[in-house]
Amino acid sequence: MNKFMKVAIEEAFKGMRSDEGGPFGAVIVKDGKIIAKGHNEVVKTNDPTAHAEITVIRKATKLLGRFDLSDCEIYSTCEPCPMCFAAIHWAKMKSLYYGANRFDAAKIDFDDQYIYDVINKTATEEQVKIHTIDCEECKEPFVEWAEKVNRVKY
Ligand SMILES: [Zn+2]
Repeated sequence: MNKFMKVAIEEAFKGMRSDEGGPFGAVIVKDGKIIAKGHNEVVKTNDPTAHAEITVIRKATKLLGRFDLSDCEIYSTCEPCPMCFAAIHWAKMKSLYYGANRFDAAKIDFDDQYIYDVINKTATEEQVKIHTIDCEECKEPFVEWAEKVNRVKY
């Protein structure tokens, strides 16, 4: 099997067996070497965003001292949830490898179908009530950003 995915699976077992979070692991590879490995830490950290992919993105960006991971690849034991999928895009990574998929995860009660339904506007129930308020005032920082000469682009 793939040597990087093997490490991601080891991480999934490690995190699960130490009760740090769900059975998910991930690694980030740069130039053929693992630069970050990790697992789900939601339970350990009480952070609902501490999914394996987010955990390794944070480790890799800290290590490299930059937010752009376009020269890195991510290996995740499971198909990333919508949050992680977006984070992988925000990090500008060019390759994602995963093994188990969202339907496999749903069978063990990690079901993110509801989030896909909300995004696709096909959800029949709303968990989060969404309110649009103060639209003009909220756009004021955009005006200043657009005119800011020394802005850091990402
Ligand atoms: Zn996720």
